[in-house]
Amino acid sequence: MRHFTASRFGSYEHTRREFLARTCMLSAIAWLPETTSAQDVRTRLILLGTGGGPRPRKTSSAPAQVIISQGVAYVIDCGDGVARQLAMADVPLTSLRHIFLTHQHSDHNADYGNLILLAWTSGLHTRVDTWGPPPLQRMTRLFFEMNKYDIDVRIANEGRIPLSPLVHAHERRTGGEVMRDDYMRVTSTVVDHPPVVPAFAYRFDAPDRSIVISGDTAPSATLVKLASGADVLVHSVMYPGAIDRLVARVPNAPALKASILAHQTSAEQAGRVAQAAGVKALVLSHFVPPDDPDLTDQMWTDAARIHFRGTVIVGRDLLEI
Ligand SMILES: [Zn+2]
Repeated sequence: MRHFTASRFGSYEHTRREFLARTCMLSAIAWLPETTSAQDVRTRLILLGTGGGPRPRKTSSAPAQVIISQGVAYVIDCGDGVARQLAMADVPLTSLRHIFLTHQHSDHNADYGNLILLAWTSGLHTRVDTWGPPPLQRMTRLFFEMNKYDIDVRIANEGRIPLSPLVHAHERRTGGEVMRDDYMRVTSTVVDHPPVVPAFAYRFDAPDRSIVISGDTAPSATLVKLASGADVLVHSVMYPGAIDRLVARVPNAPALKASILAHQTSAEQAGRVAQAAGVKALVLSHFVPPDDPDLTDQMWTDAARIHFRGTVIVGRDLLEI
């Protein structure tokens, strides 16, 4: 077992204790022994938003996930409302350490800057690394510029430490290893989501489990390779038979149907990808359409099971897996 190196995370212990304390409260455990090992805490995956597309909805939030390992939060995608969804999931915003954007579509990045700002207003005072396609660095810089007034007021008035020095944006144009720390290795591959280039899928390998997030993609051989043997694959899905009803509800986008069909994966195809990759569980998410009352969980599951023999889970906002 690898061991945590304190020097690599200045306030890690503090964050971990806060996280463990919260976990204890939630599970009504009154006391946590000092000897409890960090390694005893299972790596958690929580779906924060499972609806595809940027249009705000009553039924589901925009795409985002969080993986929590050793009290450290790794957030994947930042759709509208991601900070609120973390609060709803009882994940302390101060545990935010890494943000990964799969691609630069607004349902995946609309609250990228807001998540950082709102975490800082919630007490975050430690480093955050962000990873994703260009123009991530420019987006980060311009976000701080746009919010300079509020940030400066809070520094002067509330005694907060400056925000921008905490945030390090890393642009990625190709797949491969993204980062690693003492408990997590993150790798990526370029997937097929035209015309958005590059679009990434990410794989998170923790000591106890491996989790892959597809991002948005058409059926992708590179994703099959990245997800090979993983415990969990979270895959974006569409239901082709319902796309006509979806586009009829969205004015001002005459090419929307062709776009969706060209750059998304049907639930049936997602099952084929999961089977080819040999994953244990396939989690359906980023539903397109996201709010069609005629589509039942059983219909999504049945489609995914045509080709996949493992466990199929129909994603829901705030579902922990
Ligand atoms: Zn997209």
